[in-house]
Amino acid sequence: MFKANKDEEALYKCNVKVVEWQNRLNEFTSKRDFSREYVSNYKQVHINTKPTKNNITILKEAGILVDDSLGKMNQSLLKRNANQLKRLSQKYDMKEFFESNNTVYNCTNANYIGAVGYDESMTTMSINSSIKYFKDVDTIIDVQKKSIESKWSMPCKQENYDIYAMTHEFGHTLEIKLYKTRYPLGTNDKYIEFCREVKSDIIEIAKNRYPKFDYESSLSTYGHRNAKEFFAEVFANMELGTPNELGDAMNEYLKKIGVLK
Ligand SMILES: [Zn+2]
Repeated sequence: MFKANKDEEALYKCNVKVVEWQNRLNEFTSKRDFSREYVSNYKQVHINTKPTKNNITILKEAGILVDDSLGKMNQSLLKRNANQLKRLSQKYDMKEFFESNNTVYNCTNANYIGAVGYDESMTTMSINSSIKYFKDVDTIIDVQKKSIESKWSMPCKQENYDIYAMTHEFGHTLEIKLYKTRYPLGTNDKYIEFCREVKSDIIEIAKNRYPKFDYESSLSTYGHRNAKEFFAEVFANMELGTPNELGDAMNEYLKKIGVLK
């Protein structure tokens, strides 16, 4: 058609598309193993694409919305983490805050274990776990064990290795709540300054409590990254059974500001 009406440019574009599709077809057919389609006695395997009702209920009680992608996670591992989020949500009175931020928990394919996401105004939040680590219990325990032994993470009771990452992420959400309670219109660009203040308050408490307090050795490598990670790491340490001097200082700080009794 383009040949007939001498539209050179359109003809060129058309030819490029043809080559592109030919290449794709070659790639597709050369890599495809057709024999797989004709295996006898093929059995349909049920793939769970949604989280269990029980896990949805636990997270709902925590004030957290559940994304279907959580169905990809090992459901007993999800249950352990959902229960931890619920326990912490109740302990720190987070349910209303989570609900007002439409906090959703989902499963990603990210290279990091977990994360907390929020928008510029910090009025919506998401918590996520990566399927690369949460596909089964052994993987997460193995990763966390190595992480703690190499001091990348804070000390934690062995029985809590599987809930370390999500306890750390919960710590981020708690610090966001502290920020929004003090500055209801506070946005992301001022948030790090607030976190730096909180960090120095906690370090002051540790210094006063323990005259020989050593900041470098008390904090995990990851906690050194920035003031936000400091809080999340020290919070995880405080909550997971083996608090060190920083974990104790965090506890005192949270009591001082009225978050803990
Ligand atoms: Zn973090």
